[in-house]
Amino acid sequence: MKLRVLGSSGSQLPGLNLTSFLLDRTVLIDTGSAASMLDFDEQKRVELVLLSHIHIDHSMGLLLMADNLVGQTKRPIKVLSIPEVLDGLRGHLFNNQVWPDFTSIPSTRSAVFALQALREGNPTRAGKYTVTAVKVSHAVPTTGFIIGDGRSSLLYTGDTRSTDRIWQVARKVGDIRGVVIETSFPNQLQELACLSGHLTPQTLRSEIEKSGLKVPFYVYHLKALYMGQVQKEIAALKNPQIRFAAEGATYTF
Ligand SMILES: [Zn+2]
Ligand SMILES: [Zn+2]
Repeated sequence: MKLRVLGSSGSQLPGLNLTSFLLDRTVLIDTGSAASMLDFDEQKRVELVLLSHIHIDHSMGLLLMADNLVGQTKRPIKVLSIPEVLDGLRGHLFNNQVWPDFTSIPSTRSAVFALQALREGNPTRAGKYTVTAVKVSHAVPTTGFIIGDGRSSLLYTGDTRSTDRIWQVARKVGDIRGVVIETSFPNQLQELACLSGHLTPQTLRSEIEKSGLKVPFYVYHLKALYMGQVQKEIAALKNPQIRFAAEGATYTF
């Protein structure tokens, strides 16, 4: 599987793009900067969206892509997540107030998006992939994903503070080749990180240890204001497993 980093920042400023990853050109994992980083043809090629939660820095591209793609897709693009996230999407974003309901325009059958709920912890077939949603611990209902193509698997945490279950599930998968994990704030803001449901370099270290996984961990979601400090604190961990998910880079798993 090839994972292209469209955006790996936890804040938007010129040159910093919000969280979004494109897998094998057809699967979006979160959509923060998807509409600004993918051209129209690339947006049209998307078949599947895995949405971790509805916070704007992850869902914005979904709203803006809908505006581009209405009437342009052969069949609806599937949006997969846990029921709580899809309920939030319907109630708070595609609610004909914040944004039109692009799951029913012009009709449910020919809409841009079709929402599909995943049963937590249950591997579900989606095209050539198997997707497992596992809830993590954030300020709002949020899920991580384990995505496999039969040869290897990739784990994406979504926004989370310290969490356990996704590592327990991951250890049983066996073929995980890489983890994409958030880290947002420096150690001195540990309390804020816990309150808002995010990791710091010190909690990143304990998550990696707890996971037992000996694969690369690609860090995303650094907050712009603290980026330099977080990078320094991560470098001080001297853990060769840790890399940064560089915007524009493509990684193979
Ligand atoms: Zn969030
Ligand atoms: Zn976020």
